[in-house]
Amino acid sequence: MLVVMLSVYSYFRKMESLKKHLVKLPATMLEANWDEKIEFLYTLQKEDWLLAYNNYIQFDEVKKRAVNFDFFKVEIQHNPARKRSTCADLSAETIKERPCFLCASNLPKEQVGFTLLDKYLLLINPYPIFAKHLTISSLRHTPQRISGRITDMLSLSKKLKNYTIFYNGPLCGASAPDHFHFQAAEKDVMPIDFEIDYLKEYKTKILVEENDIHIFQSLDYSRNVIVFEAEYIEPIDYFFEKVYNQLPFDETSKEPMLNLLANYENGKYRLSLFPRKQQRPSCYFEENEKQIMVSPASVEMGGIIVTPREEDFQKIKKSDIEKIYAETSLDFSINDILNI
Ligand SMILES: [Zn+2]
Repeated sequence: MLVVMLSVYSYFRKMESLKKHLVKLPATMLEANWDEKIEFLYTLQKEDWLLAYNNYIQFDEVKKRAVNFDFFKVEIQHNPARKRSTCADLSAETIKERPCFLCASNLPKEQVGFTLLDKYLLLINPYPIFAKHLTISSLRHTPQRISGRITDMLSLSKKLKNYTIFYNGPLCGASAPDHFHFQAAEKDVMPIDFEIDYLKEYKTKILVEENDIHIFQSLDYSRNVIVFEAEYIEPIDYFFEKVYNQLPFDETSKEPMLNLLANYENGKYRLSLFPRKQQRPSCYFEENEKQIMVSPASVEMGGIIVTPREEDFQKIKKSDIEKIYAETSLDFSINDILNI
């Protein structure tokens, strides 16, 4: 009885904490679409939250340069504010000892957002890699695991149709491995958005070509990507599960190491899966001038390499990028997905 009372009490306390962080839309915006709501959220947060205001102003100044490969490019972004994420200590003890920064009860008092699918809270990311960078965190404090969430991820991609939704596994770029979350970036900012059609046409190994789903794997792209495309969510969910179960299980993450990008375009869902074999490349652990501080996540797999240090931004070259991808992307080959 006491346990039931305590859990009811804790539920109501959580709901009270959440209420303080929900946007109160003016009456004129009750029918607004998601683009308008997000625009409103940005205006509101930049007015009320100095940290967000400063970091988005600074983001306008970040330096970028492109490194061209055969048929694709990688953009290097010098972003000092991302140091806390690139160099995050994700050991179980550190995570356990810090207050979870995605739980509603610990959010900065100025931070507000919208609920989505009755399970998630949409917030602006105060440490942006994109001019519009969102965090979509679970309303519950539950570990970062993708299993059972593909339907949500694809539904979100249709709802936020001008965004790419992304997922970083616990050892593949997530800075809160203890609290489930997606992130979202404006579409057509990551180089992969412009390259995927070329990949599909010319640099591809077709894995499945059925009426209701098309699955292909990249060739000569430095990193391995398996792309699922379909009009409906169900076949993607079904085949993702098959591939997921074949990937090597990582004991620390409690799931295979991976990054995911999802978007909705021309009436079709697209899910891009990047299997991973390592959290950080060897150059991260080098010393002195040999060190390059890069810690790949979905954004890097999508073609934007974030370098928090100026010297890394200056010196990183094509061969370093190839090595970073080779060491962190898993060259996982699927021969007969239909019969897995
Ligand atoms: Zn939490």
